[in-house]
Amino acid sequence: MTTPVPRQVIVVGAGFGGLEATRALCKIPYVQITLIDKANHHLFQPLLYQVATAGLAAPSIAAPVRTIMHDRPQVTTLQAEVAEFDAAQKQVLLTNGERLHYDWLIVAAGATHSYFGNDHWAPYAIGLKTLRDAFDIRRKVVEAFERAELSNDPVERQALLTFAIIGAGPTGVEMAGTIAEIARHTLKGEFRRINPADARTFLIEGGSRVLQTMPERLSQRAKEQLEKLGVKVLLNARVTHIDAEGLRYSTPVGDTQEETAMPSSCIIWAAGVAASPLGKQLAHATGAETDRAGRIIVTPELTVDASHSIFAIGDLAAAKSHDPGTEPTPVPGVSPAAKQMGRLAAANIQRQIQGEAMQAFRYKNYGNLATIGRNAAVVDLPLPGGRHLRFSGLLAWQFWLFAHVYFLIGFRNRLVVLMDWASAYWTYRRYARVVASVAATPQPSEQNMAPPPAGASASAPQNDTPKTPSA
Ligand SMILES: Cc1cc2nc3c(=O)[nH]c(=O)nc-3n(C[C@H](O)[C@H](O)[C@H](O)COP(=O)(O)OP(=O)(O)OC[C@H]3O[C@@H](n4cnc5c(N)ncnc54)[C@H](O)[C@@H]3O)c2cc1C
Repeated sequence: MTTPVPRQVIVVGAGFGGLEATRALCKIPYVQITLIDKANHHLFQPLLYQVATAGLAAPSIAAPVRTIMHDRPQVTTLQAEVAEFDAAQKQVLLTNGERLHYDWLIVAAGATHSYFGNDHWAPYAIGLKTLRDAFDIRRKVVEAFERAELSNDPVERQALLTFAIIGAGPTGVEMAGTIAEIARHTLKGEFRRINPADARTFLIEGGSRVLQTMPERLSQRAKEQLEKLGVKVLLNARVTHIDAEGLRYSTPVGDTQEETAMPSSCIIWAAGVAASPLGKQLAHATGAETDRAGRIIVTPELTVDASHSIFAIGDLAAAKSHDPGTEPTPVPGVSPAAKQMGRLAAANIQRQIQGEAMQAFRYKNYGNLATIGRNAAVVDLPLPGGRHLRFSGLLAWQFWLFAHVYFLIGFRNRLVVLMDWASAYWTYRRYARVVASVAATPQPSEQNMAPPPAGASASAPQNDTPKTPSA
C-alpha cells in the first residue's frame, strides 16, 4: 500500500483565525501546514489596552508562534511577510522573493486602522492593534505626565495633561476608563509640581452613544460608569483635524456645526477599522469582491475562488452567518467569529479531501462584553429563546475578567495576568510603567510631540519582548 502524498496547506496569519485553523488542520491525516506571520508572536488583542496602559507586560498577552506550534511536527512556522498571491500557480509570494506552493490556502491576515481617508492623522493619533502600538501609547501616556511635571507653562501643562481618545467602541471605552483611573489613582502622590488628578480624559464619539453595538440601556450604563471614573464623554462630536498640537472637533449647535479646538499631546485613535492591505492583493489575484472596509466577500463556505482552494477568514472576511430559516446576517469582527471561521475552513478542506460537500458558516454568538475600568463593565449574554441576560458594574467586570483570562494562551500567562491584576486591584499600581525614555535623548520630532520615526525602537522596553510561556 502506498502512502498518500501529503497535501500542502498554507495559513497566512497566526492571529485568532489562523491559529485555530492550523490546530484543526493538524487533525487531518496527510496534511502539512505552513503557518506564516510577519510577527513572531500570537497576540491576544482583547487585553492589548492593558499593555498600552502599563497594567500588563507584553509576554502576558503574547506568545511566540513557534513555541505554540512546537509539538506539532506537521506545522512549519515561518516569520515572513506575505506580499502577493498567484492564484493560477497556487503560490504565495513572500517579500523576500520566495514562492511557496499550496494545495489550499487560508488567509487570516486580520485588520488594521482606518483613518477614513485622513492617513496624515496617523502619526499624531496612534491606533491600537499591535504590541508596537501599545508600547507607543504607553510611552506617550507616561511621558505626558513627566513632561507636565517639568513644564512651567500652564497652557502647555494643560495640553500635556489632556488625553483624547477618538471612538467610543470597546477599545476607546476601555482606554478612556483606564487612563482616567491612572490619573486619579495610580499616580496619586507621585508628583510634586502637578496633581495628576488634574488630567482630563476625553472620549470623543461621532455617534449618539458609546458602545453602539450594545443595547441602548447598556450604552447608557457604560457612559455613566465612564463619567464616574472621571472621563468626559463627548457625543455627536466629529473630529475634523488632528496634528502635533492637538485636534479639532465639530458638534451640532442648532442647524450649524460648531468647531472646538482641543490642544492635546496624547491622542489615541480607536475609531475605524479596515481589512489588512493583504485583502487587496487577494482580491487582485482572485477577482474576489471587497466591501467598503476592504474585506473579502466570501462564499457561504468561506472560499474566495471558483476552485474553492482559497479561504478568507476572520477580520479579513466579509462573511455572513447562514442559519436555517433566516436571512444570512453579517458576522462581527470579533475573536470568537475568527476562531469559528478557522475551524470551518479546516473542516471544509477535509470535506473536499473526502469528496464531501462543504458546509456554510454559522456564527455562534456567545455574548458581548466590554470593560470600562475598575469594577465597571457591561455584559450582554444571549439566552435560548431569543432572550438576553444583561448586567453591568462589579459583577460584569468580574465576569469580563475571568472570561478574558480563561481565553489567554498558556497556563503561565493566565496565572501571571491574574496575579498582576490582583496586585493592581488592591494597590492601584501598574507595574509595567517602565518605558525606555526619550526624554534622556530627545529626538527633534519628539520635542514637538510628534511620534518617533517608523522603525525606531526607543519605546519598546527590553523586558517586553515576548517570551515563551514557560520561560
Ligand atoms: C485593541 C483590540 C481589542 C479587541 N478586543 C476584543 C474583545 O474584547 N473581544 C473580541 O472578541 N474581539 C476583540 N478584538 C477583535 C479581535 O482581536 C479580532 O476580531 C481578531 O483578532 C481577528 O482575528 P484574525 O485572525 O482575523 O486577525 P488577527 O488576530 O488580527 O491576526 C492577523 C495576523 O495576520 C498577520 N499578518 C497580517 N498581514 C500579514 C502579512 N502580509 N504577512 C504575514 N502575516 C500577516 C498579523 O501579524 C496577525 O498576527 C479586539 C481587537 C483589538 C485591536
